[in-house]
Amino acid sequence: MEKNMKSIKLTNLKEDLKKNQIEIMLYPSKCDGCEGQEYKSCVQACETHMKEKYGKYNTARINIKSKGNKFFPILCHNCEEAPCVDACMPGARYRDNENGWTLTNYKKCVGCWMCVMVCPFGAIERVGKDHYASKCDGCIDEETPKCVEACKKGALKKIGIRNYSYERRLMIANKLYGPHLKINYNRYKSNNR
Ligand code: SF4
Ligand code: SF4
Ligand code: SF4
Repeated sequence: MEKNMKSIKLTNLKEDLKKNQIEIMLYPSKCDGCEGQEYKSCVQACETHMKEKYGKYNTARINIKSKGNKFFPILCHNCEEAPCVDACMPGARYRDNENGWTLTNYKKCVGCWMCVMVCPFGAIERVGKDHYASKCDGCIDEETPKCVEACKKGALKKIGIRNYSYERRLMIANKLYGPHLKINYNRYKSNNR
């Protein structure tokens, strides 16, 4: 049993490395809500791209929430075992094994909102008037996700899953130790992948 579990994990890791799968890392401390303006570059860029790509399923997949003068980008974290896939009875939400992203066939979506309820990050949007649930697809066909491209504050970053843990630890270390931190950047030859 133990042996089987190990071999499953190793197989998945090998496949992930082969795919060079990307994620989008969020740095909420760098987001200033586009200086608190109503116009948010990332949201606008996403909306424009979604309109080109999905036609009537055109709502932005990124949200910026605010509390006081703090801003928080809310975005899909592309869970490895995504609850929204399990919850979707008509099979509109599925995992694409080629690129590793959880995608949506909007024509199959019946607007039951089960995925909205189970998403642990609140990243799926209910679009009541057109009766579908919109979710980020990581801009898988693009070199760089449109929201990342649009954010000039560095609050969003494309990153490969191979470096995700390293980047995350760096973020936490920065928070904990701030200026006392000495980082050997030579160890981090990721080229963002
Ligand atoms: S573009 Fe960047 S700074 Fe502006 S709201 Fe989006 S994440 Fe925040
Ligand atoms: S709202 Fe659409 S995508 Fe979400 S679970 Fe229901 S059918 Fe699936
Ligand atoms: S990665 Fe693409 S689909 Fe996802 S929020 Fe950014 S622009 Fe929108």
